[in-house]
Amino acid sequence: MNIEKVKKEHIEFLTPPVDLIGIAKKHDITIFYGKYSDDFSGAIYVSDKTPQIIKEENYFKFIILNSNHAVTRQRFTLAHELGHYFLDYLDESGQYRESIYEHRDSGNRLDKDEFRINNFAAELIMPSESLFKELNNNFFKVTEIDLELVRDLAKIYQVSFDAMRNRLRWIRGFYGQF
Ligand SMILES: [Zn+2]
Repeated sequence: MNIEKVKKEHIEFLTPPVDLIGIAKKHDITIFYGKYSDDFSGAIYVSDKTPQIIKEENYFKFIILNSNHAVTRQRFTLAHELGHYFLDYLDESGQYRESIYEHRDSGNRLDKDEFRINNFAAELIMPSESLFKELNNNFFKVTEIDLELVRDLAKIYQVSFDAMRNRLRWIRGFYGQF
């Protein structure tokens, strides 16, 4: 599934702060939190069958998050893992491609494939349509994005300051303005 289809099918969750947990729930994905070393951010395991060792019905789709990380980072990781679910596990019609899919995110995420997933995550958690609206309402004619606004929007969308600043830079097409 591509990001546009995912947004369309989850429109009721997209009012900021985007309800990522609601999206996961809609797909019966259980979220587990654990205290891990800093280089582990998250993982996803999904299967069309419940493994025999696990009795609980919904546990065959789950995402693990590192609760040692800041909540904003956990949110971004959750959006990232959902990216693996929608882009890699499901096909365009919403059917699973393979019966088992697992992916673990640790260390750096600089490879091209993870970049693709991070773009999905940024668009899901900070949808461009709603940010365009914010920009129009606030300072469309101003040439520089002010830090106060970045701070406010980061709070509204529950993302880190840096994530919002990068996003606004991308949205506005301004690079190196502040
Ligand atoms: Zn990943």
